Amino acid sequence: MFNAEKCDLCGDCLVLCPYVDYDREEAVEQFRLLMEDETPKILSECVTCAGCNEFCEKGANPFDLILARQEQTGIPHIPEENTKIFRGLADVRSEIIPGNADKPALSLCSVGEIIPGLFDGPMFEGMTILKGGDYFCRLGYIHMGLETPVRENTEKFVENLAASGAEEIVFYHDDCYALLALKAYEYGIDVPFKPIHIIEYLLERVKNRKNNITPLGMKIAYQRPCASRCTPQKDECLDELFRMIGVERVAREYDRINALCCGAPLMPRDRERAKALKKRNVADAVSHGADAFVYLCPLCTLNLRKIASVEGLENHHVIELVKRAVHD
Ligand code: SF4
Ligand code: SF4
Repeated sequence: MFNAEKCDLCGDCLVLCPYVDYDREEAVEQFRLLMEDETPKILSECVTCAGCNEFCEKGANPFDLILARQEQTGIPHIPEENTKIFRGLADVRSEIIPGNADKPALSLCSVGEIIPGLFDGPMFEGMTILKGGDYFCRLGYIHMGLETPVRENTEKFVENLAASGAEEIVFYHDDCYALLALKAYEYGIDVPFKPIHIIEYLLERVKNRKNNITPLGMKIAYQRPCASRCTPQKDECLDELFRMIGVERVAREYDRINALCCGAPLMPRDRERAKALKKRNVADAVSHGADAFVYLCPLCTLNLRKIASVEGLENHHVIELVKRAVHD
């Protein structure tokens, strides 16, 4: 939610935006126009990464204003046919695979099948699995300049999860966790179970098996998802996890607060701009000596793995690295 009373029109948010090249004066002017309900060019230039919510040190949440204005104006004009696949995620058949009530449940959203075999093996054995459209949080609508479908579905999303009876639920998709950890609170919706981020779950498991780890000795470039802007504190867990499995997260330019969007939201709007963005991201990984691109979001994986391979990088999901390093 945009907090107008916290904004002093300093312009930092748009000066720091890595997708536009505004000087301070232009950044301030763009933001002033936004606050006056005008339609400045940032509305079409914004790639919806939510980064400026993290850049703003005053806690004003500038992206939330940009998103609200995008929704009001219909910018960024995403063609209907391009939103079809995303909307279709709500129709993926829902299923509950019952497990052991002593273990937390695992929610795979509608995206659990994108990386085949990821949940096979002892690491997730015995967990109750929730998957399909009933467990799809829809946070990705923000990448189409829309927040209403997210807000309107959140109560139902929480109800569906709560109906599983699980007191603790591990979330594979960063979007789902971000929605529950931050947005549900903003929408005034109670979450009657404990959401656990997949990274927290992996870290706990690795700590419990610290004598059964073969360090991987890899240098990796991490692709931080846009949803992680809502929960930047999870970066510390990830750093600890990487340390424990012998993985060096290279200190590249486009990681942490300066992470770049994977480019997926731009594909339907401007393919050439999306391609240039992906190239810039992968070139940064290569120039900092990474052996592999490592992902948390399955959609980032889909979008970047081809170009990363072409540049000689391996592609791995964080879960794959943990499975490779830890022996049960
Ligand atoms: S939203 Fe934050 S960073 Fe942007 S102009 Fe306002 S105070 Fe500055
Ligand atoms: S959401 Fe991302 S792309 Fe949009 S203005 Fe903020 S930092 Fe720039």
